[in-house]
Amino acid sequence: KPVQIRCCTAAGCLSANSQTVKQKLEEAVKAGGLAAEVQVSGVGCMRLCCQGPLVEVSETGEQRLYEKVTPEDAPKIVGALQGEEAKLAVVNLEQPFFTYQQPIVLENSGKIDPERIQAYIAAQGYQALYHVLRDMTPEQVVESISRSGLRGRGGAGYPTGLKWATVAKAKGERKFVICNADEGDPGAFMDRSVLESDPHRVLEGMAIAAYAVGANQGYIYVRAEYPIAIKRLQTAIHQAQRLGLLGSQIFDSPFDFKIDIRIGAGAYVCGEETALMASIEGKRGLPHPRPPYPAESGLWGYPTLINNVETFANIAPIIRKGADWFASIGKGKSQGTKVFALAGKIRNTGLIEVPMGTSLRKIVEEMGGGIPDGGVAKAVQTGGPSGGCIPASAFDTPVDYESLTNLGSMMGSGGMIVMDDTTNMVDVARFFMEFCMDESCGKCIPCRVGTVQLHGLLTKIREGQATVADLELLEELCDMVKNTSLCGLGQSAPNPVFSTLRYFRDEYLALIQEG
Ligand code: SF4
Repeated sequence: KPVQIRCCTAAGCLSANSQTVKQKLEEAVKAGGLAAEVQVSGVGCMRLCCQGPLVEVSETGEQRLYEKVTPEDAPKIVGALQGEEAKLAVVNLEQPFFTYQQPIVLENSGKIDPERIQAYIAAQGYQALYHVLRDMTPEQVVESISRSGLRGRGGAGYPTGLKWATVAKAKGERKFVICNADEGDPGAFMDRSVLESDPHRVLEGMAIAAYAVGANQGYIYVRAEYPIAIKRLQTAIHQAQRLGLLGSQIFDSPFDFKIDIRIGAGAYVCGEETALMASIEGKRGLPHPRPPYPAESGLWGYPTLINNVETFANIAPIIRKGADWFASIGKGKSQGTKVFALAGKIRNTGLIEVPMGTSLRKIVEEMGGGIPDGGVAKAVQTGGPSGGCIPASAFDTPVDYESLTNLGSMMGSGGMIVMDDTTNMVDVARFFMEFCMDESCGKCIPCRVGTVQLHGLLTKIREGQATVADLELLEELCDMVKNTSLCGLGQSAPNPVFSTLRYFRDEYLALIQEG
């Protein structure tokens, strides 16, 4: 149809009543006798979440994005198609929030209906899988992913091609592919949005990975707090199975691949890969020491490939457009783009996808539109509870794996929380420590007891009761917890304390001197 009305039906806009907005738009189109030329569809995240519900009207190549749309606005939007004056607020699509983005992972997000496989296929969906099964050997697929320079988007940035090569070479009667969708960092919602907006992209990436490493069974481990993502994944799996894109003899090739969903029960530690696998096996989600690594001995002792949602979402475009194309985007050893969830004290909150190497200043001040009410940016927290706080003085740093690590933070999965000058950094460190203390699984003593002690010391400092000796003890204990905890949760729990001490030590000292 020549006119498309797209209504965001991702979680953010749905929570602001976009389902009713969509229904009213459909009614208005019918009432206006426009059903033959106007198509109303529910689509995924349109990225500028703070202005939702968002409705995009696309007509003869022109686009208008209406913001904060109410059900009462629906007839006005349809009326505007018939020449009436809508008098509704529209978003400026030429602002840096949109123009600096380079959607690869989010290329279909906000464009296609995530509940219709036909929409994904029309957007070149499953072409990469078809090409791989027809024209490439598994070794060629692994080589292509290695050459692209893609690194894991879940946190540590391990080279994806290397991981695939290890699983491909591992010996085992069976092999598994797991998609880690247990996104749990405070402020992070990238993976949820990808699953809600474009679930087939993740399935296609998993199927290509399975072919490359020789697996026939996949699992998506997704947290129970994401009911819309779960529902859309279930729909997508059924649709793909019906069309022969999952299951036996995919595209009439000898390749079989099945995907099942496993729903997490809310434990943050289950995002850690060994705990995640224990949970899939039906055991309590507790981490265990590595080695052995999952690539050699993972699920039920078989070689297992684990990547996160965003990593799998990058696979199909790499195959379609080529490894060299992907490798040409980004900076240094960080290729491609990164999706960030921009949140906190900032004007434009929502999802952004930028080339690696984009500076924090560009993200915060230009794309984010700066701090509301004339406030001043003080820091950005990246990497969730495992990451750190980067001060405004370092905002010219490019966002890539190495630069963020050098600053004492990390890329993490992509949460980016902006803080203004009213934020007390001891409070920030205490908040993240409380999170880790609550989420510690309790298996090892340094983390189970250490996080409680650290939280107590931070509380004492915040309340002005601490001495210099307490501050020394805090640093000593941070080192001990970091160096002796069993898994990543405990090992990285002190990071927010380290980074706030590194850049905002005066705030700690001010509280001690006052006490
Ligand atoms: Fe559990 Fe913490 Fe030890 Fe990890 S570091 S095993 S979360 S107690």
